[in-house]
Amino acid sequence: HELRTPMTSIKGFIEGILDNVIPQEKHREYLEIVRNEVARLNRLVNNLLDLAKLESGEIKLIYSNFNINELIRRCIIKLENLITEKGLEVMADFDEDTLVSADIDSIERVLINLIHNAVKFTPEGGIIGVNTEIRNDKVIVSVADSGIGIEKEDLDRIWERFYKVDKSRSLDTIGTGLGLSIVRNIINEHGEEIWVESELGKGTTFHFTLKKAENASKS
Ligand code: ADP
Repeated sequence: HELRTPMTSIKGFIEGILDNVIPQEKHREYLEIVRNEVARLNRLVNNLLDLAKLESGEIKLIYSNFNINELIRRCIIKLENLITEKGLEVMADFDEDTLVSADIDSIERVLINLIHNAVKFTPEGGIIGVNTEIRNDKVIVSVADSGIGIEKEDLDRIWERFYKVDKSRSLDTIGTGLGLSIVRNIINEHGEEIWVESELGKGTTFHFTLKKAENASKS
């Protein structure tokens, strides 16, 4: 269904243009829709392929020690345009010396997905919080938002592939519903945990654990 819908509309619009059912002056408008649908299909297929690779264990994690606070800062900078467009405030509360042992590229993907979701589902002027906290041999990373929240009955289902909460659809037309499946797979692959807390209309917080790097020296 997820693949068929955009393909049907692409096919329909192109046929409409070729058969002149769609008048000349509307061609550009429809071609732009086709272009967006093709881009969406492209994201969808890439995400599906990544998910398949993760699930089959084909993606090998490359562990290194890095400062998770620095990585979070870099992710915020990557999303800065979206954040300022919406007038969102970012509040960071970091523990010091948070060196972790993990695969930096896939953890960057986790952070970008979670922060991007926080931006998408938080109305203008809202707040996004990023925290790190050392607890024993773990670092707990949290991404919080003051957004629309998620209803209890949807909370278990957001991890499913293609699942999108109905109410959120109008706020996000570009998502594929695969982001959180990929996020959870990456964290599972690390042997770590991820969980979510949310209150409808108040906001959502995702937490995940990472392994603290041994001999973590001052950074
Ligand atoms: P998408 O690409 O649609 O964002 P995800 O798998 O990342 O897909 O998320 C699945 C669904 O979970 C979203 O469509 C949205 O309904 C809900 N969701 C995820 N993050 C949040 C959040 N921070 N606040 C509210 N709803 C969220």
